[in-house]
Amino acid sequence: MRIFKFGGASVKSPDAVKNVARVLQHEGTENTLVVISAMGKMTNAFERLIRAYVDGTDDLQEALKAIKDFHTNMLDGLFDKNEEVYTKVTYLFGELAGRMAINTSEDYNYIYDQLVGFGELLSTTIVSAYLTKIGVTNQWLDVRDYIKTDSNYRDAKVNWELTEAIIQQKVDVSKLNITQGFLGNNGEYTTTLGREGSDYTAGIFAYCLNADSVTIWKDVQGVLNADPRVFDATELLQKISYTEAIEMAFYGASVIHPKTIQPLEQKQIPLFVRSFDNLELEGTAVSKTQGITPEVPCYIVKKNQILASVSAKDFSFMVEDNISTVFKKLHEYKLKVNLIQNSAISFSVCIEDKFNSFDNFYNDLKSSFNIKCYKDVTLYTIRHFDDEAIKSIRSKGRAIIRQINTETAQLVIQENA
Ligand code: ADP
Ligand code: ASP
Ligand code: MG
Repeated sequence: MRIFKFGGASVKSPDAVKNVARVLQHEGTENTLVVISAMGKMTNAFERLIRAYVDGTDDLQEALKAIKDFHTNMLDGLFDKNEEVYTKVTYLFGELAGRMAINTSEDYNYIYDQLVGFGELLSTTIVSAYLTKIGVTNQWLDVRDYIKTDSNYRDAKVNWELTEAIIQQKVDVSKLNITQGFLGNNGEYTTTLGREGSDYTAGIFAYCLNADSVTIWKDVQGVLNADPRVFDATELLQKISYTEAIEMAFYGASVIHPKTIQPLEQKQIPLFVRSFDNLELEGTAVSKTQGITPEVPCYIVKKNQILASVSAKDFSFMVEDNISTVFKKLHEYKLKVNLIQNSAISFSVCIEDKFNSFDNFYNDLKSSFNIKCYKDVTLYTIRHFDDEAIKSIRSKGRAIIRQINTETAQLVIQENA
């Protein structure tokens, strides 16, 4: 059994969808489960729709129109007007409208999960229909019948026992299965596994099916030593150990979702990252090896960070009790900490404000602590750094914090305007 994952970029246009079919035909279509994300940038478009819906603003119709137009163009580029998939897509849009009409909840995260997943439902419906049209028999699965989670909307935790039992019992491993990434179900409602979670979905299926491999198909050759959109000269990493991949994902390398590797490592299932444009290339293999090959510095950039330096108003040391208060609050407001540094009287954290809750965190703590914050700073992490690498990052602006250990250097930079 093989697991394939195609992200948004691989299904961003009718030609891209045709290319997915080409990849499957080239690689073989049996014993395969294919996880697909929403098309192109549709998840962002759904996020705009959800924002407008929750805020009750006029942008709602415009946002909905953009999503409908995108999928109509997709259909027109792949099918004839009379084909059944048009009805299926219309039905999904009807269901989306119905969800918005009947909703009475005010819980943003719950609403988000009930609506955003239509991106994946539309995408897999279209790809599955296209494969059928060209004669590639496939089975469309609603992933919500397979991946069971808790009710932590937008960041749901997998119920592994239940999920494994269902997947092992219900997936026909001899076939070509097509399913959605990113989504789960808590027994009653749709949940999501966090943005970019489709890689994780592939990891979950691989673990539960004891798959032979996972392949993530990308618009790049494989995993590079830096984001090619930010750095000019990048190099392909041919081999990466599980540990190294976990470290890179932990520090924010966006090329693989952080939760994906651990289930694979547990069962020693190799992960390949390959180019969907050039099937001759080998790409990157993540497996049980040592470190990375070639051994070059790897750069990970996280923009839009907040650096908060916290000190106690009574000048007490920032030790166990104070730090634990701060951490409890960070956890409570779901702020993601990407770097920690402390001195006797101050405790600094570089934070990602994923859920727009930093201001509440700040207001909550400001009666007991002095908090100095720098907004909109960038966190650079260099794995396997050398002097040259650090120098190149320092040239990008003012370094507010620098933290170095054996393998990893981290710099928080206020970038030159
Ligand atoms: P997907 O469609 O699979 O979700 P994404 O658009 O999220 O794909 O990710 C692919 C993009 O990630 C690439 O086009 C590349 O610009 C970017 N990227 C960032 N960091 C890396 C890296 N270290 N190696 C390869 N690509 C990277
Ligand atoms: N469509 C979701 C997102 O864009 C999940 C994914 O693509 O991995 O975040
Ligand atoms: Mg993606």
